Amino acid sequence: MTPGRRMSVIRSPGAVRRRVRSWKARGERVVFVPTMGAFHEGHLRLLRRARRLGDRVVVSIFVNPTQFGPGEDYRRYPRNTARDLRLARAEGADLCFTPPVEAMYPPGGGTEIHVTALESLWEGASRPGHFAGVALVVTKLLHITEPDVLILGQKDAQQAVVLQTLIRDLDLPVRVVREPTAREPDGLARSSRNVYLSPDDRRAAPVLWRALLAARAVVASGERSAARVRARLRKTLAAEPRVHLDYAAVVDAVTLREVRTLRGRILIAVAARLGTTRLIDNLEIRVKDPVR
Ligand code: AMP
Repeated sequence: MTPGRRMSVIRSPGAVRRRVRSWKARGERVVFVPTMGAFHEGHLRLLRRARRLGDRVVVSIFVNPTQFGPGEDYRRYPRNTARDLRLARAEGADLCFTPPVEAMYPPGGGTEIHVTALESLWEGASRPGHFAGVALVVTKLLHITEPDVLILGQKDAQQAVVLQTLIRDLDLPVRVVREPTAREPDGLARSSRNVYLSPDDRRAAPVLWRALLAARAVVASGERSAARVRARLRKTLAAEPRVHLDYAAVVDAVTLREVRTLRGRILIAVAARLGTTRLIDNLEIRVKDPVR
C-alpha cells in the first residue's frame, strides 16, 4: 500500500459503506480514524499507525455539532479541508469521509446515547452533553464505516475510555487502538485549538505537561498517596498565573474515579483555561503495589 496512491473523497454514508464492504469482501482489513480535521502531527500519527495496522485506511473529517455546547467554538473551530485532504493522501489514506451535517443528522432525529457512568465526570462536568455527542457521532461513524480497528488518541483519554466502554457495552465488533499523544518540542500536546492561544498564553501552556511530569516523578520516587500527587500537580500549575485550573485529577484509568492510593493503571489528567482557550492533557502510568 504505497502512500500517495489515489484516495477517494466521499460525502455519502451509503457510498462509504459500499466501498468498505467491497474491500472487506476481499478479505482486506479496514482501519478507521475519526477526526474533526484541522490536521496536525497528532492526526498524522494516527493515520500512520492505521497504515501499519491494516490494508485500508478510512479517515473521517466531520466537525460534529452535537458535541459542542451552546457557548463553545463550533462555528469558529478551525477548518481547512483542502489541506487536510492533501495530508491524508500523503499519509496513504484510501478513503476520506467528509459528510455534510445533513447527511449525519437528517431532520427528525431523536436518538441519544449516554455512557452514563462516565459522561458527567471531568470533561463531562465542564462540557455537559459533550460525550453524548461524541458517543452518538462515533456510533454512527462505526456503523457507516464498519472498520476492523478504530484508532483513537491518548490526548483525549476520557473520550477513549467513554468510547471503549460504549463499544464493549453495545458489542460493537471493532478493536480499539490508542496512539500516544504527539507533542510540540516544549511538551505542549498538539491540538487544533492551540492556534487560538495568544503568544503569552502559548509560552505559558507547557506548564500542563511540566505538571504531569512533576506528578509522575513524585510517584516514581515512591509516593502512593493520590492526594499528595494532586497537590504536586496543583502546585506546579499555580506557579503560572495565566493558567486557570479547571481540574487536576488522579484517577483509575478505566473507571475514571478518584483513587486514594495509587495502584495499577492510573490516569493523571489536567484541564485549564488560558485566555479563552481550554486545554487538556494527561499521562497514564502503571503503579506497582504500595511501598511499605
Ligand atoms: P480531533 O480532530 O481533535 O477530534 O481528534 C481526532 C483524533 O485525534 C482523536 O482520537 C484525538 O484523540 C486524536 N488526537 C488529537 N490530538 C492528538 C495528539 N496531540 N496526539 C495524538 N492524538 C491526538
